[in-house]
Amino acid sequence: MGIIKTKDLVFEYIRRDEDGNVEGITTAVDQVNLEVAQGEFIAILGHNGSGKSTLAKHINAILNPTEGTVWVDGMDTSKEENVWDIRQKAGMVFQNPDNQIIGQVVEEDVGFGPENMGIPTEEIWERVEESLRAVGMYAFRKHSPNKLSGGQKQRVSIAGVLAMHPQCIVLDEPTAMLDPRGRREVIRAVRGLNQVEGITVLLITHYMEEIIHADRVYVMDGGRIAMEGTPRDIFSQVERLKELRLDVPQVTLLAYELQQKGVRLPDGILTVKELADALQGYL
Ligand code: ADP
Ligand code: MG
Repeated sequence: MGIIKTKDLVFEYIRRDEDGNVEGITTAVDQVNLEVAQGEFIAILGHNGSGKSTLAKHINAILNPTEGTVWVDGMDTSKEENVWDIRQKAGMVFQNPDNQIIGQVVEEDVGFGPENMGIPTEEIWERVEESLRAVGMYAFRKHSPNKLSGGQKQRVSIAGVLAMHPQCIVLDEPTAMLDPRGRREVIRAVRGLNQVEGITVLLITHYMEEIIHADRVYVMDGGRIAMEGTPRDIFSQVERLKELRLDVPQVTLLAYELQQKGVRLPDGILTVKELADALQGYL
């Protein structure tokens, strides 16, 4: 079994009135089956309200399935006795870094997680150092988190999760509140975690450019998995992506439109360089 697996996962939010009567039910996750192998870089893409965050919260046992099962490293997340272990194995990073940073000094903040786990002090410092280095924030270890840019803060929160030595990190739109530079910094750090540290990554995003480096992509719509494949498989299906209300990157769109006009290009162009190379033959 993979590090993360869901089987027929359904989650319903139930709204009640003041008297406790059911007013409405939203099926936020609907029959989701996914399996992630150790070391994979998975992207989960989908427009607002498609169920991404609800799915993510199941992997950390913040939510429990209405139906179906979620396993993290073989442990059923609905079993109370597994919750502590699951949260060590699968770390979460959220959208807003301001809500995740609590320390007055960067290195203290990063040390909180391992401290809560009862890790001996000496080892905490080792973990803090290695985690800050992994996200390129070691030079800021003595700084106050308040003075950092959004991208830097988000990298500190990633380091905080990393210091707990998780096998897997789930990042729920970690770049949504950042400027383009901050987004690039965070994505670079996330790729490093996967490629250098070998950590399994689940990156949730609605920015198409951020899925380019993923091994596999799941696209969600209305709580369901609407598409699954490599980034190139996904980017090849421009019309389908538009139906799912996702913004196709400019370069992919341009290549697609050239194809429609009869220019012979491979499907699913992802980068400007690929397009430039593919167009060489025409010059
Ligand atoms: P995404 O992260 O893709 O934007 P969400 O998982 O947040 O999607 O939301 C999926 C659906 O569940 C949406 O219809 C949303 O309105 C609904 N939803 C999310 N959180 C709650 C909640 N706490 N109570 C009721 N409905 C919710
Ligand atoms: Mg969300």
